[in-house]
Amino acid sequence: MQELKSYLAGRWVGGTGSGQTLLNPATEEPLARASSEGLDLRAALDYARSTGGPALRALGFAERGQLLKAMADAMQAHRDELLSLAIANGGNTRSDAKFDVDGAIGTLLAYAETAAALGNARFLVDGEGIQLGRSARFHGQHIAVPRRGVAVHVNAFNFPAWGFAEKAAVALLAGMPVLTKPATSSAMVAHRVVQILVEGKVLPEGALSLLVGSPGDLLEHLGSQDVLAFTGSGDTGARIRALPNIIRHSVRVNVEADSLNAALLGPDVAPRSDMYELFLKDVVRDMTQKAGQKCTAIRRILVPQALLAEVEADLAELLGRLKIGDPADEEVRMGPLANASQLQDAIAGVARLASQGKLVIGTGARHGTRGFFLAPTLLRAGPDATAVHEHEVFGPVATVIACDGNAAEIVTRGNGGLVSSVYSEDQAFIEAVVAELAPYHGRLFLGHPKIELSPGPGTVLPQLVHGGPGRAGGGEELGGPRGLAFYLQRVALEGSRPVIQKLIGK
Ligand code: NAP
Repeated sequence: MQELKSYLAGRWVGGTGSGQTLLNPATEEPLARASSEGLDLRAALDYARSTGGPALRALGFAERGQLLKAMADAMQAHRDELLSLAIANGGNTRSDAKFDVDGAIGTLLAYAETAAALGNARFLVDGEGIQLGRSARFHGQHIAVPRRGVAVHVNAFNFPAWGFAEKAAVALLAGMPVLTKPATSSAMVAHRVVQILVEGKVLPEGALSLLVGSPGDLLEHLGSQDVLAFTGSGDTGARIRALPNIIRHSVRVNVEADSLNAALLGPDVAPRSDMYELFLKDVVRDMTQKAGQKCTAIRRILVPQALLAEVEADLAELLGRLKIGDPADEEVRMGPLANASQLQDAIAGVARLASQGKLVIGTGARHGTRGFFLAPTLLRAGPDATAVHEHEVFGPVATVIACDGNAAEIVTRGNGGLVSSVYSEDQAFIEAVVAELAPYHGRLFLGHPKIELSPGPGTVLPQLVHGGPGRAGGGEELGGPRGLAFYLQRVALEGSRPVIQKLIGK
């Protein structure tokens, strides 16, 4: 069986002990092992700080952007191999695997373009200079410079390629070396990506490190110049934030966590209209793409009371048609959940939701006897149900909720989310809903049938911010150049105008 090694301090190293076995979640066949036991993570961080950091800071933004382009090219050259690994170790259909791998490549390329627009400066000039006194000589100017530490990236299991790339692209562009830690159960894709980049000598020495296996004592060695970007469950996020070392050194932390994303069907939408069909299509795509294991997937479906029965029947019909099974079979449209514990959690979650509502389709039990399958599951919740606004079931599971004039208020019961979507052509309804939902979300998707090739609300685009308040972790990533702020230290320069202007090259 393949042993997945970590790439730390410039070399590939394996942990001691038996570690964790990585499986094919469709067949339960063991594929690889990973252990981080005994690895010297303090030394790995020191190496990245002292080697990768200076090498990246010696380059300007545009030059770092060329590195991102080279990363994208290297991944593209191995795309088929990466897709096959995502199918085997991630339970992805080929289309799911493309969503992850092509999303990673696209994000790297988007940031390469952002870099080109920033030119070859080594720091960012933030806003205009400000006259501070009566005379023009007393002057202020904000700039933002790369932090001197390591960007530690802890990722969730569901997007091993994109999760790596969307974080690494921004940190490397900002001038910080990266230590990336994929979730262990699906680490084969991220491991192979790093191998490809190391073999191709795409990045300067020390700019990229990889830890496979459990995080061990990694976070105990972070210091005040390091940053930690975490994606995963809200519980782990809360634990990480509360670590004494993180608090003591004021380590900058970004958390991307759970979300009970909602889709709202406007009261103006007629069944069978283009808007209605788009709504159905987006809900079905979000429930089944990656077997619903997307942080941005629609979990709550809010429909006018008068359309409840029709929407349920239409969704049941569309979801019932999907072929579920081993994604190695090209006819299969939905694969398994990522591992046994995810399946167990999803089954328990469906039971919790069903206890306050009704199963419309799905049994809430394991599908089949081999692999970690759950069939698409649609529930209906009553007006007083609370679990649907509190508990994310990370699988092909969503709940329909009937509403009348209070859709936006119901959505806010979810206590903050990554994205919600609105399907309506009634401008007054859209304005009211946006005003109500905006403070509780990182992104609002306004669906319209005339938008060609609309990716739906579940796709995270590098140009727009990703993250959300409250339950979603309170973090923010991406958003074009906005994402750089997390990795840069903003500093106000205050003094003589000519001196400051010379410093910033004006
Ligand atoms: P998880 O169990 O919280 O694990 C996430 C990552 O944290 C993994 O790499 C895991 O490593 C690591 N980890 C676990 N305990 C840790 C600790 N004490 N210290 C440091 N790292 C630790 O989450 P998951 O099951 O992989 O992912 C599913 C969740 O992620 C869902 O709730 C989903 O909503 C959320 N998610 C959010 C976003 C977003 O962008 N907001 C995106 C994707 C997923 P091991 O694998 O080695 O245990």
